[in-house]
Amino acid sequence: MKFDTAYSLSLDDKLSIYEVRELNFDETVDFDSDQDSFLCPNDACRAAFDTGNALSTFNAKNVNYLRTPHFKNKTTTRHIDGCRYASTHKTATGESDDDREENFPSEWVLTRRQYPRKPALTGVDASVPQDPAKVPSNRTTTSHGTNDSSPDKTSVFAHPVECFVSNIDDKDKLKRMPLKIGEHTATYWTFFKKIEYLQDNKGLIYWGKIKEIKDYTSSFRIDFEKKVWLNKKPYSVNVYLSKKLIENYRKRKAFLEQIKAAVDSERALYCFFYGVTPELKQVPSKKNPEQTFGVFSANIENLDHLIIREAPGVQ
Ligand SMILES: [Zn+2]
Repeated sequence: MKFDTAYSLSLDDKLSIYEVRELNFDETVDFDSDQDSFLCPNDACRAAFDTGNALSTFNAKNVNYLRTPHFKNKTTTRHIDGCRYASTHKTATGESDDDREENFPSEWVLTRRQYPRKPALTGVDASVPQDPAKVPSNRTTTSHGTNDSSPDKTSVFAHPVECFVSNIDDKDKLKRMPLKIGEHTATYWTFFKKIEYLQDNKGLIYWGKIKEIKDYTSSFRIDFEKKVWLNKKPYSVNVYLSKKLIENYRKRKAFLEQIKAAVDSERALYCFFYGVTPELKQVPSKKNPEQTFGVFSANIENLDHLIIREAPGVQ
C-alpha cells in the first residue's frame, strides 16, 4: 500500500513523499525526515492512535533513485476500520505494488509550496520550541485552509516525471491521465515530448537520453543523444546550466552530487526539463573560430524544473 500523502508531525500538515524529498535537500530549511514522524493522512484514523503509530518512508533521501519513492505502512502500523490506507493484503504480495507511481497529480503548480512551521499552541511564550514531541497527540487537524496539499496537485516536478517514467509501459494510461501546467491542460502523454520533436510545440516537458554532460567545474552542459532535424539537416541539442543558477540553488549540494555522479555514470541517463525550449543558435566552431555551426540550445532558468535520472523502459 502506497500513500499519496502522509501527515508530518513536525510540520503539522500533509505532504507527498516528493515534498519530503524537497525539504530534505533544501539547505534553507531545517528539516530531516528521519527526525520527523509520518502518520496516516486520514484525519479520523490518525486521531484514533497516538503519534507513535507511524509510517515509514522509502527513498525519502536517496538523491538518485530507481524505485518509486513512497510512504508505506510498517508492519506495526494500525488503522481504524474502513481507513483506505489499511493494507488489505498486508505484505503477502511483497513489494509488487511498489514499482510504479499510481497517484497522478492532475496539476503541476509551478510556484513552490511554502511549508511554514505552525506556531506552538501552548500559550504566548515566544521561546516555546518547535519540538515534535511537544505536539499533543490525537490532534485532529482537518484543515489548514488554503494550501496545495491535495494529492491532486503537486509543486514538485519529480512527481509528474515519476508518473510518466514508472508508467511508460502503460501508454493508454498516460494518454488518459490529465495534467494541467500553468494555463494549459493536456494529458501526461502529450506534455512529455521527446527532445527530437521539440519543434512541434512550445511549453512542453522535453526529455531525452543524455549523450554527455560537459563539466565546466561550476557550470554544466547537457548534450542529448538525439538530434533535431530542420530543413533536412540534423542539429545537436543541449541545455546549459550556469554557475550563477547552481550557486544560488537552495538544493545546491544535492544537485551537485547528482550531476557529478551523472557525469561519471556509465548508465543510461535521461534529462527532463520544463520552462525553456531550445532554439537554433549559431556558435563558433572550436577548431576554427571564424566558422560557426548551428545547435539547438537553451539556458535552463530554474533548476526545480530540471531532472536527470535513470528511466528504465523509456526509449
Ligand atoms: Zn489510516
